[in-house]
Amino acid sequence: MEYRTLGKTGLRVSAISYGTLKLPRISAEEAARCLERALELGINFVDTARDYGDAESKVGRALKGRRGEFLLATKTSARRYDAAMADLDRSLQELQTDYLDLWQLHSVSDEESWREVMAEGGALQAARRAQAQGVVRHVGISVHRSLSVMHRAIQCGKFETIMLCYNPIDAENVGGVLALPRRHGLGLIVMKALSGGTMAYPKQARKAGFGGRDALVAGALRWVLGNQNVDCVLAGMRAVHEVEENVALASPVVPLTAAERKQLLAMLGEFGGEYRYGQRCLACGYCQPCPEGVNIPAIFLAARMLTSYPDDVKHQGYEIYEQLDVGAEACVECEKCVEKCPATLPIPALLKEARKVLERG
Ligand code: SF4
Ligand code: SF4
Repeated sequence: MEYRTLGKTGLRVSAISYGTLKLPRISAEEAARCLERALELGINFVDTARDYGDAESKVGRALKGRRGEFLLATKTSARRYDAAMADLDRSLQELQTDYLDLWQLHSVSDEESWREVMAEGGALQAARRAQAQGVVRHVGISVHRSLSVMHRAIQCGKFETIMLCYNPIDAENVGGVLALPRRHGLGLIVMKALSGGTMAYPKQARKAGFGGRDALVAGALRWVLGNQNVDCVLAGMRAVHEVEENVALASPVVPLTAAERKQLLAMLGEFGGEYRYGQRCLACGYCQPCPEGVNIPAIFLAARMLTSYPDDVKHQGYEIYEQLDVGAEACVECEKCVEKCPATLPIPALLKEARKVLERG
C-alpha cells in the first residue's frame, strides 16, 4: 500500500482509505469483515460522518479495541457551536473512542453555510474548543461544488485538510483547485472518485480492465490517485473482495497512461447516461428521510437502470421500484429534500420524470 502525507497534519495515510457512506446498506457483520480486512491489508484511515446513518456505530463496534491501529475521522453537518459539540459527543460515543484524529465540518457547500460555520458561535469554534481539550487532533472541512468556498477554505489558514469531489468525469469542476491545498499546507482527501458509485458497472455487466475486475472502478481510482496533488481517496467498500481489489490498485499506485486515460473516457461514453456531478443522483442519502417516506435515491437508481443500463440488466429497475412501499407519486413537492441535496438536483421534478419511466410498463 502506498502512503501519503496529509498536509500539515503530518499524518501518513493510505492512498486508498475507507469511506463509510455505504456501510448503512450492509450488515454490522459484513461491515466488520470489510473493516478488519482493510486494516489487515494496510488501509490505515477510516472516514465517517454523523450523518451516515449507523456507519459510526458500525465502525465503533467493528474496530473496538484496535483504536491505536488506524486514523479515524468523522464530520459534523452542524453549523452552530452547541449543535456541533452535541454531534461530537455522539460521534465519540458511537465510535467508542475518546479522540478523533480528524474532525471535519461537513458539506460546507454554499456561502450561507460558510458564513455560519465561520461566525462567532459557529461550528469552527466548537472544533477549536475540542482541539484545546485534546479530543480532536486536527480540523478539516468538506466542500461540494462551490469553488468560491473551496478557495476560501484553502486560503483562510483555519483548516488542515479539505475533502473535495474529483473523478474522471468531474475533473474540470475542481481542476483549478486541486493544486492549491498542498500549496497552502492542507491535506487533500478525495471523495466521489466514482461519482457516488454511479460509475461502477452493474455487477452483471462488469468488464475487467485497468488492472482491476471492474474496469471503471479500477480506471477511476488510478485516474484520481495518479494526480500527485491527491493525498488519499475514500473508497466506499461494501464487500471484502472490493477491499482487496481496491487495495491492489494502490500497491503501488500506477497512474494511467495517456492512452489508458483516453480508453477510460471512451468506456464511460459507451456506457451511456449522464454522469456529471450535479446532473444525477449520487446515492449519498443526504435527502433522506423524506417526510412522505419517498426513497428518493432508490427511485432514481431504478429509473436510471431502465434508461441507461445494458438490456440484460434493465429489468432490475422495475424490481427495485416494485419492492418500495412508497412510490414517486407520494411526493408533495415540499422541497425539504432539495435543501439537503449536495448535487442540487431538482428532486420533485426528477421524481415526476422517474415516475413516467417506471410506471410506463
Ligand atoms: S419534495 Fe417530495 S421527495 Fe422531497 S422531501 Fe418533499 S415530499 Fe419528499
Ligand atoms: S437526490 Fe441528492 S441528496 Fe438524495 S441521494 Fe441523490 S444526490 Fe444525494
